[in-house]
Amino acid sequence: MSISKSIACHVRLRPTCPNDGFVNPDAIKISGNSISAMNKENDKRYHFDLDKCHDAPSTQEEVFECVKPMIEQAIAGQNTTIFTYGVTGSGKTHTMQGNQSDPGIIPRTIESIFRKQSETPNPFSVSFSHVEILKDEVYDLLGDRSEPKKRDIRTSAEGQNVVADLIIQPINSVTEFDIIYDAAAKTRKTASTKLNSSSSRSHAILTIYLQHPGSDAGHTTQHGKICLTDLAGSENNNLTGNDKERMRESSAINTSLTTLGKVIDALNEKAKRGHKGSGTAFIPYRDSKLTRLLQDALGGSSQGLLICCLAPGEKFARDTINTLQFAKKLKSVENRLTVPDHKTRRVSAPLPRATKAANPAFKVH
Ligand code: ADP
Ligand code: MG
Repeated sequence: MSISKSIACHVRLRPTCPNDGFVNPDAIKISGNSISAMNKENDKRYHFDLDKCHDAPSTQEEVFECVKPMIEQAIAGQNTTIFTYGVTGSGKTHTMQGNQSDPGIIPRTIESIFRKQSETPNPFSVSFSHVEILKDEVYDLLGDRSEPKKRDIRTSAEGQNVVADLIIQPINSVTEFDIIYDAAAKTRKTASTKLNSSSSRSHAILTIYLQHPGSDAGHTTQHGKICLTDLAGSENNNLTGNDKERMRESSAINTSLTTLGKVIDALNEKAKRGHKGSGTAFIPYRDSKLTRLLQDALGGSSQGLLICCLAPGEKFARDTINTLQFAKKLKSVENRLTVPDHKTRRVSAPLPRATKAANPAFKVH
């Protein structure tokens, strides 16, 4: 069975920090789930109705409260994608990753998965992969730390886009995850340095795979997948820096985020034409690696949550409106969710075929 469901669009306003420069406290106004932002250039105020607005004092706990039910559904077999979008410095990584004293969505998700696993009589297994997209190339952040491996994307027989030879690392505890994930973060830094870049200019995609043992003597299994994506800064990179390498990188970031916008436009156009009964529309997923990997979240079978992060400084006013316009158009994209059938433990989303397990003998020392 499948049902239509829109991608939930939230905003989160970051508290003021010294880098913001001048902040007009009346420029961004939040009231319930509505937000308005002032564009100083044309003296116009823009209004947006979204699914949830987290004002500046919002805590990581409050944001995770909105994510919790999605994690429950993912554990039950529903593919799930959560991504953060916004200008560099707006709080995307804080929201997704956070820090030791104020953990974000990733550590809270891992913690809640293992808590649930310990309460389940027939426990499911957990594994994860972690890739970075930098200058429209995919790098595997697991495995060899000194040399992050560039990977291709292939389309599987089931029509899913998968990263070829991707390492999918089995994990048995939060501690195991932390150790491997911290190493991957270091690999990401190494990759950025080697490629003369900064991690705010790349997209990071962490995918958690949940595999339930079959209830009928192991003949069928049920899979759920949670994809947690921290996107590169959405600012107009062409305006910053002037060396050749930076310009090429800027254009790759712009290409992937522009393609993301085009995919959403095409999906909205398709939905509009669909209501009038006309045929199929071309969706340009293949135009960037980012949209190929996020295909399931964009008009596919995944439930989705976008968290748009906003910085309060007046210098970000134009970016704030661009970010909110992005949220507005994504909000009307509908996905066809495959509702897991608990009786038959139907396979709702097979693990990508073109993968290899990482060293299953991994031990925490
Ligand atoms: P981005 O990933 O969008 O570039 P970061 O998440 O790195 O931005 O945030 C920039 C800075 O602001 C970091 O120092 C981060 O700790 C801080 N920050 C972001 N959001 C919040 C928040 N909601 N509360 C407190 N500090 C925040
Ligand atoms: Mg960041």
